[in-house]
Amino acid sequence: MVITPKNIIAIQIRLNKNMVLQYDYPLKSHNTFHFDVYAEYFSAPRNVQEITEVLTAPILKNKSCFVLGGGSNVLFQSNFKGLILKPDIQSIQVIHQTAQSVWVEVGAGVDWDSFVEWSVSKGHYGIENLSLIPGNVGASPVQNIGAYGTEIMDVITQVNGIFLDSLETFSFKNSQCEFSYRNSIFKNSLKGKTIITSVEFVLGKRGNIKTSYGGVAQEVERLGGYSLKNTRQAIINIREAKLPDPAVIGNVGSFFKNPIVENTVMNKIIQEFPDAPIYKLDEGYSKIPAGWMIEQCGWKGKTLGNAAVHKNQALVLINKTGLANGQDILALAHEIEKSVKLKFGIEISKEVNVVS
Ligand SMILES: Cc1cc2nc3c(=O)[nH]c(=O)nc-3n(C[C@H](O)[C@H](O)[C@H](O)COP(=O)(O)OP(=O)(O)OC[C@H]3O[C@@H](n4cnc5c(N)ncnc54)[C@H](O)[C@@H]3O)c2cc1C
Repeated sequence: MVITPKNIIAIQIRLNKNMVLQYDYPLKSHNTFHFDVYAEYFSAPRNVQEITEVLTAPILKNKSCFVLGGGSNVLFQSNFKGLILKPDIQSIQVIHQTAQSVWVEVGAGVDWDSFVEWSVSKGHYGIENLSLIPGNVGASPVQNIGAYGTEIMDVITQVNGIFLDSLETFSFKNSQCEFSYRNSIFKNSLKGKTIITSVEFVLGKRGNIKTSYGGVAQEVERLGGYSLKNTRQAIINIREAKLPDPAVIGNVGSFFKNPIVENTVMNKIIQEFPDAPIYKLDEGYSKIPAGWMIEQCGWKGKTLGNAAVHKNQALVLINKTGLANGQDILALAHEIEKSVKLKFGIEISKEVNVVS
């Protein structure tokens, strides 16, 4: 075998008795596009104290830091120069309860779907519709994850974390997080400036299950009727049938956001495309599915180099050959953005976080 720098096992630097820092660390299994990129340094601290210890290590002075969860919503453009910090805080703690509700604090490193599974197994309502979304709890507030009529902002009470520059801790109430569609303060003014260490949720001991979206009601019925468990299973079945499994084919789910436009813009589109699937919002705005526009532009199933648009989901860009890199996916995204702008006059923006 030829020995190249990339098949030498990553080098470990001991920071103290309990902690090591990885050097030249492969990120292929830490991003769901499966790009073959490396982090100069990588660390997965297990608590707040370890996070502080890593961030104050002399070897990392003046190094940039990127906080990574499950890597299911990031696009690495190249190797990362600096520290990739992946909080590995694993805890689910009930902090308060009443006859109606339960308050839970969950560590940033907990796998999101494991938390949903825990919640459903305890008979707690509120996040069952968010079953099978990949990633970790720490990232869930960042883009206010949502699916099947539920957004995580509906059940978050508080987000706890550390500011990367000052290392001071913070606790933001829901109203301070500036949540909106696939957005929050952590994706805007605090982008790249915080490490979320835990998230607090309020879940119902009773509740109304939302089954009115995307065939959920029919699937729940098929599984035996209205219950928390059947709703979770219905969502899992629908998602598995609809979306490519990132373990098999590299992708980050929806690559673009669904644009929200003024109704005047929307009316022009309806004149030209009477069948356009429009969702009317409040205050003179409407949402138009980016996937529909991409499909209208003829991109569904199209390949460009190693990247492609998924054959069933025009909103999902895939690492078709397994050999794609960030440039391949971005080149395809750029062509799609140009086509949509040309055909509809609308600029679509990326949902994925591009890391350079
Ligand atoms: C097949 C598939 C389906 C998906 N379906 C959905 C869906 O239905 N709805 C939806 O909303 N999303 C969906 N996504 C996108 C993705 O799963 C979510 O955005 C998820 O919350 C990302 O979690 P992550 O841990 O992988 O975050 P990462 O991809 O690792 O990071 C995403 C962003 O959050 C930041 N971040 C991560 N952890 C922290 C932390 N602890 N503190 C501060 N910042 C942090 C990162 O810096 C980055 O900017 C899907 C993705 C895939 C691959």
